[in-house]
Amino acid sequence: MSHTNISTLERNHPCFFAESRGRFGRIHLPVAPSCNIQCAYCRRDHDCLHENRPGVTNGVISPEAALDRLERTLEKMPHISVAGIAGPGDAFSEPELTLQTFELIRKTNLKIALCVSSNGLNLKDYIQPLVDLNVRFVTITVNTIDPGIGTVLCKMVNIEGAVVEGRIAAQLLIDRQIEAISSLKAAGLTVKVNSVVIPGINDDHILFLAKKMKILGVDLMNLLPLIPVTGTALESIEPLQPVKMKKLRERAGRYIPQMHHCRRCRSDAVGLLD
Ligand code: SF4
Ligand code: SF4
Repeated sequence: MSHTNISTLERNHPCFFAESRGRFGRIHLPVAPSCNIQCAYCRRDHDCLHENRPGVTNGVISPEAALDRLERTLEKMPHISVAGIAGPGDAFSEPELTLQTFELIRKTNLKIALCVSSNGLNLKDYIQPLVDLNVRFVTITVNTIDPGIGTVLCKMVNIEGAVVEGRIAAQLLIDRQIEAISSLKAAGLTVKVNSVVIPGINDDHILFLAKKMKILGVDLMNLLPLIPVTGTALESIEPLQPVKMKKLRERAGRYIPQMHHCRRCRSDAVGLLD
C-alpha cells in the first residue's frame, strides 16, 4: 500500500500505517456523548457506526477520567502510540469535551499521537485548536457528495440548535465536510475518509467519491460495509459481500490509498488492532 503523503514520523499510527499494527496500539477515549446529525442507519443507543460495530453504547467518561484511563493504560501497555476520540457520539457535537480531553493529555504527554473521528458537520471551527494541540490525525465519514443520495442517508442535521432536514440538510453536511477536509489539509493534518458502502444507494457512487477525495488531498480512504441495524430505515439492506468489498477497494485504490485492515473498534477500544 502506498502512503505517499504520510511522513515517517507518523508511521506509528496502526490505522493510518498498516505495517505498524503489530507493534503499536491505540486507545479510544469515549468522551463524546451526543451527535449532531441523524444517519439513516444509526440508532443512537449504539456507538457511532462510523468507527464502530453495532452494539450497545459504551459508557461515556469525563475528560478527567479519560486522562486517568490513558495514564493507567500506558503503565501497562507502553506500546500504545495513539489516543483517539471516536464516539460514542460525534467528537464535535460537544467540542469542548473533545478539546478539553486533548488539552489534559498534552499537559503531561507531548509524545502520544492524538487522533479524532467526526462526521465533519461542526469540525471546521476547531481545526486551529487541533493544530495547537498537535492533533495530527483526523477521520471524517463522507458517504456521498451527491445531495440526492445524501437525502436518503442523512435524515437531519443540527446546526447550533436548529434542526434542518431533507435536501438542504444533505447539502449542508456535504459542503461542511468538503470545507473541513480542505482546511485540514491546508493546515497539514493527515486525513482519512471513512465511507459506509450501502448497496443500491451509494455503491455506484464510491469511485466518483474516491476521485473527489483524492483531489481534496485526503491521505487514506476506508470503505466500510453497512452493518444493518434493526429499527433503522436501512435495516433490511443486504450488506455488500466481502469479495465485492475487496473488489471495490481495489478499484477505488486506483485513485486513493485504501485501508484494508479496519477492525471497526468500540469507542472504548484499547490495545493492538490485531
Ligand atoms: Fe450515528 Fe455516528 Fe451518524 Fe451520529 S454520525 S447519527 S452517531 S452513525
Ligand atoms: Fe483504526 Fe478502524 Fe479501529 Fe478506527 S475503527 S481505530 S480506523 S481499526
